[in-house]
Amino acid sequence: MNIGESILKMLQDEIPEIEYTRYIKQLEFCERDSRSNYALFYAPNPLIMNWIKNRYANKIAYLFELKNGVRPTVSIALKSQKKDPLKTAPAISNSENIKQSMLNPSYTFENFVAGSSNQFAYAAAKNVSEKPGSVYNPLFIYGGVGLGKTHLMQAVGNVLQIQGKIVIYTSVEQFLNDFTSNLRNNTMDRFQDKYRKCDVLLIDDIQFLSKKIQTQEEFFHTFETLRNEKKQIIMTADKHPKQIAGLEERLRSRFEWGLVADIQPPELETKIAIIKKKCEINRVQLDNDVINYIATIIDSNAREIEGILSKLHAYAQLMHQVITIEFTKNVLKEQLQEKRDNVTIDLIMKMVSKKLNVKPSEIRSKSRSRNIVYSRRVAIYLARELTPMSMPQLAQYFGMKDHTAVSHTMKKINELLKNDEDFKVKIEELTNQIMAPESA
Ligand code: ADP
Ligand code: MG
Repeated sequence: MNIGESILKMLQDEIPEIEYTRYIKQLEFCERDSRSNYALFYAPNPLIMNWIKNRYANKIAYLFELKNGVRPTVSIALKSQKKDPLKTAPAISNSENIKQSMLNPSYTFENFVAGSSNQFAYAAAKNVSEKPGSVYNPLFIYGGVGLGKTHLMQAVGNVLQIQGKIVIYTSVEQFLNDFTSNLRNNTMDRFQDKYRKCDVLLIDDIQFLSKKIQTQEEFFHTFETLRNEKKQIIMTADKHPKQIAGLEERLRSRFEWGLVADIQPPELETKIAIIKKKCEINRVQLDNDVINYIATIIDSNAREIEGILSKLHAYAQLMHQVITIEFTKNVLKEQLQEKRDNVTIDLIMKMVSKKLNVKPSEIRSKSRSRNIVYSRRVAIYLARELTPMSMPQLAQYFGMKDHTAVSHTMKKINELLKNDEDFKVKIEELTNQIMAPESA
């Protein structure tokens, strides 16, 4: 049994028998053309093809990820269009190929959660998808790892591709590889055909152009040609064009000609919504408790989410257990431990003082003013929860009489957590920021 077949077999246990026989069983895995990041299946007719695309492509990708650790783009093609191996075209040429394989079909606007941290970039991308080549050209999206830049860029690509436009999604590395190999083979016309005749060019992680003089030169010409013909260009990077070192001035200025939009780390609320969305897409059922808990554990990088969901899902199936919060805690203990090792009392003091607007020295003073007492209690609670400090150690640090004072504080806070929803959210937010200080 090849990998594709065993993935389909896994699906058999999870879906109604009739669905399996009618649709899934009809699929044929194409081992020859599949790669770790690309899985190709053939369907006998368009009905089955579309049914699988809509209902199961995500699930299949997810099962591959469970098994291989890599989530592939799943492509369902018609069996009648199966290519004869002897006639398979070498390298690029036909845009059908490029079209099929490059975009992740689940990176859509519907699957993207918009929140205040990404609202601007989301709106810009949406606009571009409605009026490509005219509103913001180029669109430049920048921000940290795992914040959804590639997703958003491909969402535009998916919209336009469905309308029949030729969309190329590429990395700087691939652009460079294409360039050098075509140069070597004396086939620069092919290269230019590919990159200058498309309708939409998506280039991911453009910061890697830094210091690559010859690629910059070639990219400059591609850029000019496309933009003059009002073809849409979208780029992403980890920083603003101004901050990318080793970039020719003429490129830098052009990158800012259209619109530069940033994506910030998501707040707790958006993170929760993203987890819910991922659960929905992957058909994993989790209680709100568990979702909230995961949201406080992960830092700003949404890439972690899918990993956590597959881990939970796999363990739960293996051990025939429901996913309770206790179960989640156990599964994620290691993940958590690594982070906790980085949490110090100093960090907690810094975050609490920032959030509640009280100086660290005041928190540690003997002041009885209401706001300061409140901040002190919060800091003690978080230190007890997030660091290995014992109650006597905490009493000493906060200048309290003895550990009973600390224990009294813990009791007070636990009562508040039980009865005051706003307070609970505040504590969750703080925990979150302390566990992932870079997103604060
Ligand atoms: P980046 O390119 O910024 O490093 P990606 O676009 O690769 O990040 O996103 C990483 C993962 O997180 C993807 O699975 C993506 O779908 C998901 N993700 C990130 N932000 C969001 C969001 N706002 N809504 C839904 N999914 C998101
Ligand atoms: Mg990316």
